[in-house]
Amino acid sequence: MRQKIVAGNWKMNLDYNEGLSIFSEIINMVNDEVTGRQSVIVCCPYTYLHSLSQLAKNQPKVSVGAQNCHQEDAGAYTGEISARMIKSVGAAYVILGHSERRQHFGETNLVLSQKTNAVLSNSLKPIFCVGETLEERESGQFFDVIKSQISEGLFHLDAQQFGQVVLAYEPVWAIGTGKTATAAQAQEIHAFIRKEIATQFGQPVADETTVLYGGSCNPKNAKELFSQPDIDGGLIGGASLKSRDFVDVVKAFN
Ligand code: PEP
Repeated sequence: MRQKIVAGNWKMNLDYNEGLSIFSEIINMVNDEVTGRQSVIVCCPYTYLHSLSQLAKNQPKVSVGAQNCHQEDAGAYTGEISARMIKSVGAAYVILGHSERRQHFGETNLVLSQKTNAVLSNSLKPIFCVGETLEERESGQFFDVIKSQISEGLFHLDAQQFGQVVLAYEPVWAIGTGKTATAAQAQEIHAFIRKEIATQFGQPVADETTVLYGGSCNPKNAKELFSQPDIDGGLIGGASLKSRDFVDVVKAFN
């Protein structure tokens, strides 16, 4: 059985005290209300990683992640944060290739393949995001776009390394827009992604890979999305900023 995950992406929101208090609420609600075996991850700003990781230390269901990292472990890269640093403060995951990083910071599939190596070599797990823009969807290019994002970003790995990767399909047109992909649209892409993984690494690896959906996922639509056979959970932006909404998304699996 592959792992079911609901991961929150706080992006550049919440100050330190707000973050700490929402995270504490999430931990309490997860402990009181979540009966299933799904894992919960909160990807917060770098400056909160250590404190949140301390709070998550004895919480088997809750982990902490970063939202990006540099591809080198150390060096003259003023203002950057490495995977080694993220590991050293107790985090377990790193989001890579979020469309906002691709769009606003020019991250390419090549640089993301290097970041993936850095994350894995520091014993962290990448949550690797792929997804098409509205233009790419409307022009019918989306399968090709997603195939190249996955193959150029991840298919240099061996099967054992790939086994550490969590994938997230996030159609760019659905992120922060309130416009969710239908369950059928999302399932179609998730099945495609799993087929590509099977071609590269074999069916058993594909069957074990967790593939999340992201894009305006909320307590109202999560159940239908998560009931699709190839959707193993969600990467949640806006709805992860309110503990009640976020835990209700987590509970869509209960
Ligand atoms: C995201 O940023 O990864 C995301 C899915 O955002 P939202 O849920 O707000 O669409």
